[in-house]
Amino acid sequence: MADPVYVIGAGPSGLAVAYALGLQGIPAVVLEKSETVAASWRQHYDRLHLHTTRRLSALPGLDIPRKFGRWVSRDNVVRYLEKYAEHHQLQVVAGVEVSRVERAPDGDNWLLHGTGGRQLTGQAVVVCTGYNHTPHLPDWPGLSSYEGELRHASEYRNPKPYAGKDVLVVGVGNTGAEIAVDLVEGGASRVRLAVRTAPHIVRRSTAGWPAQRTGILVRRLPVGLVDRLAAPIAKLSVPDLSAHGLPRPDTGLYSRVQEGAIPVQDVGLIDAVRAGKVEPVAAVEGFEAGKVLLADGTRIQPDAIIAATGYRRGLEPLVGHLGVLNEHGLPVTHGPKSPTAASGIYFCGYSNPISGNLREIALDSLKTAKAIAAATS
Ligand SMILES: Cc1cc2nc3c(=O)[nH]c(=O)nc-3n(C[C@H](O)[C@H](O)[C@H](O)COP(=O)(O)OP(=O)(O)OC[C@H]3O[C@@H](n4cnc5c(N)ncnc54)[C@H](O)[C@@H]3O)c2cc1C
Repeated sequence: MADPVYVIGAGPSGLAVAYALGLQGIPAVVLEKSETVAASWRQHYDRLHLHTTRRLSALPGLDIPRKFGRWVSRDNVVRYLEKYAEHHQLQVVAGVEVSRVERAPDGDNWLLHGTGGRQLTGQAVVVCTGYNHTPHLPDWPGLSSYEGELRHASEYRNPKPYAGKDVLVVGVGNTGAEIAVDLVEGGASRVRLAVRTAPHIVRRSTAGWPAQRTGILVRRLPVGLVDRLAAPIAKLSVPDLSAHGLPRPDTGLYSRVQEGAIPVQDVGLIDAVRAGKVEPVAAVEGFEAGKVLLADGTRIQPDAIIAATGYRRGLEPLVGHLGVLNEHGLPVTHGPKSPTAASGIYFCGYSNPISGNLREIALDSLKTAKAIAAATS
């Protein structure tokens, strides 16, 4: 019997790929480092709902139940992923962290090194360890000597521990913006939001039309054209917050997406900024004598800092030695393509598209499985 295809990671990407491989008649085994599927989603903050619609976030072969509503909650995303693995009878081996992938001695297959000295041989490997793998804190000067409370947003669950506190949220992506609003609603005494580059803010839905659908429609249009189309729409739909410290961005919306910055979907930020409940401040430059030094020269001393400063892919120890990563640590190929330097390795889930990551994962998983079927037949 042929060796299976190993899929690393039992998040949405890994589960969808395993299902899609099954459709092609290829045995797939999913290796997951935590004890359950959907590990990343279990750790997200309590108030999180998908910013993409239920219908446009389903994985192949199973709809997200209608009763979960249009904007699916974190807990229901977890329920759906559990159900997905069960419904498709996916073979998930939990508690196995893959530390390194290399060519098997036969020069054809792949050897995976896993927890407890496990060595597994697969005819192909699909890496699905997540775009948001390793929480990233900037290398701020003075950080190592800062003794105040500072956490990465990945550790944030809800505003309870911050009630009555003066909190600085660093970074205005979707996570930073939503945590800032959550803190206001949860009774923090003061909420400041450190902003390096003014974000594009879009309404999650306008007259029933979700922003995600626009993202899908414009996805393949030229960047400059989308930038030009987006600017007047933003002026009409989002008020000017310059007087409140949040100017309109000077780079186009789609240009920013190309740089990796997805627009912020408004789930309360606009109102909170207008009401002065979330105060935008300059970017954090570093730490000095127990204070936070901002880019405009001010020094502030909040009770707590939440750094919504993003993630890294963390793929270097796993596959970095195979020459399959670019200078940003991203795979050089994605979905159905396998790197020339390491044919038989595939990557799914490593993009941050304007059309919604789950939707792209659903499409890529099917294409990837077809490519593996063609390559291994
Ligand atoms: C806060 C937040 C909100 C988001 N909201 C949306 C949204 O509304 N709509 C949307 O389309 N997308 C959204 N995304 C983006 C994306 O859809 C999710 O991050 C999604 O979970 C990505 O799925 P994944 O399987 O690629 O990665 P993950 O869900 O991160 O799964 C990776 C899995 O791999 C496991 N793993 C990692 N390393 C190893 C290893 N070495 N060995 C074994 N297992 C390993 C992890 O434990 C994890 O279970 C959001 C992301 C975040 C962070």
